[in-house]
Amino acid sequence: MGIKIDLSERLKKLPPYLFVEIDSQKKRALDEGRDIIDLGVGDPDTPTPDFIMKAMAKAIKDPSTHVYPSNKGLREFREGVAVWYRERFGVSLDPETEILPLIGSKEGIAHMPLAFINPGDVALIPNPAYPPYRNGTIFAGGEPYDMPLKAENNFLPDLGSIDDTTLNRARILFLNYPNNPTGAVCDRRFYQEVTAFAIKNNIIVLSDAAYTELSYDGYMPPSFLEAEGAKAVGVEFHSLSKTYNMTGWRIGMACGNKDIISALAKVKSNIDSGIFNAVQHAGIAALKGKKGYMDGINKMYQERRDVLIDGLNSIGWKVEKPKATFYVWARNLDGQDSISMARLLLEKADIVATPGVGFGEHGEGYVRMALTVPKKRMKEAIKRIKRII
Ligand SMILES: *Cc1c(COP(=O)(O)O)cnc(C)c1O
Repeated sequence: MGIKIDLSERLKKLPPYLFVEIDSQKKRALDEGRDIIDLGVGDPDTPTPDFIMKAMAKAIKDPSTHVYPSNKGLREFREGVAVWYRERFGVSLDPETEILPLIGSKEGIAHMPLAFINPGDVALIPNPAYPPYRNGTIFAGGEPYDMPLKAENNFLPDLGSIDDTTLNRARILFLNYPNNPTGAVCDRRFYQEVTAFAIKNNIIVLSDAAYTELSYDGYMPPSFLEAEGAKAVGVEFHSLSKTYNMTGWRIGMACGNKDIISALAKVKSNIDSGIFNAVQHAGIAALKGKKGYMDGINKMYQERRDVLIDGLNSIGWKVEKPKATFYVWARNLDGQDSISMARLLLEKADIVATPGVGFGEHGEGYVRMALTVPKKRMKEAIKRIKRII
């Protein structure tokens, strides 16, 4: 005898997981010993740099790092973030009230709607997008409203097209530039428009800036907080994951409006117990940086990007070069749907790519390829794709 395990409505409301078939195909291919080139995951393939590992090694020998961390995070880490923001973006932040360390930015993003969304409230969410914006909203009982990101709008949402009824019910707006999965970027003027839109409609802006540091051809992505008045209407999420090859370490931060920050801190103080202090010391070292580190990382991804895209273009698959992020958003050949395209790449070329529809219905017609394999493997990928198209 057992019990009936009934899932909550909120779990049942999550969108279906669309990668089941691709995942099992990939597992089968690996089990068969096939030589898979995995362009599917957005996880850096190079290790956390030495200067950060050294800071971690030192920190774990200090017993003061072994206890429960403070919910607000170490003062030194928050100060490190403030210095980094000022130097990188020219934005001043008060480490006491305007910066909150996170256990990776995904955690903060997914928890944020609990602070502002009542059942039936609307969250404005880009589509395609990183899934936690939508799923965090659903967990809070909110209704996601899709803002399509279309190539003809440079993958920016058309804020002017949202109807008044939706705007009246909307409490939060998620944005993500440089963008996953499209690789699109935005300029300061867009952030200024977003700020005006937020004030006019009384909507909180949540900007996910996980990729501002991965950029090419000399381009430097702006921060939302650079817009005049932005700090009065929103916060920005940052992550050390992609920038410093620290995805496994779990550290990021929310920065900006102090009332929004303190509301998120209140949610989190009832759910988690902070970030391992030693990881915060490693984070301080990361943000201080090391001469040449970022240039080296960006050079590496830029070279891979050029090999992949020049290669694809030379065999007739026209794809544009992203200015930032390590993603290539490729429109499928012959108008194929994205699941079929991913299946074809895997079955016929032993290449894993992510079907665009997995990021939302407006991602249909594309696949996402991550620049997280070495140049040599990119060249091999081009050879294989040439054989099948
Ligand atoms: C990878 C990623 C993050 C960062 O996640 P962490 O939890 O900080 O590792 C945030 N947003 C987007 C869009 C991402 O792709």
